[in-house]
Amino acid sequence: MRVGIGHDTHRLEAGRKLILGGITVEYSRGLAGHSDADIVLHAVTDALLGAAGLGDIGDAFPDTDPANKDVDSALFLNSAMSKIGDLGWRPVNLDVIIFAQEPKLGPVKGRIRENLARLLGLDAALVNVKAKTGEKVGHIGRSEAMSCQAVVLLERK
Ligand code: MG
Repeated sequence: MRVGIGHDTHRLEAGRKLILGGITVEYSRGLAGHSDADIVLHAVTDALLGAAGLGDIGDAFPDTDPANKDVDSALFLNSAMSKIGDLGWRPVNLDVIIFAQEPKLGPVKGRIRENLARLLGLDAALVNVKAKTGEKVGHIGRSEAMSCQAVVLLERK
């Protein structure tokens, strides 16, 4: 078995859609970035790549590449899944923490979980999504940014 960890942070900006784990979340601002800036899919992609010893998302999808502009980050995750699959690995379970002061993520956590399970080919019971605020301090607490951490376990197919 192999374990991998992923982390991502993006700034919040007006005029962008907020997309978390592939789900569009109702909010006044969205995450800034070259792609769709989905911190959840970026952290999960890095966890998958890390567990298989395949570097990071920036190696595979540079933010200087025009092809990655505003792209759906599910593309990065799907590519990581096929790379780890080619090496004979498959996910066992996934645990995710989203750090966001607002909006309240309770109502969308279930949909994010279902979508992550679909993308990883796992039963939803093997995927967990947690949400934390920043206690109104630091860049998370002041709603300047959102972060995500992910841990994934892989096993041999
Ligand atoms: Mg990112």
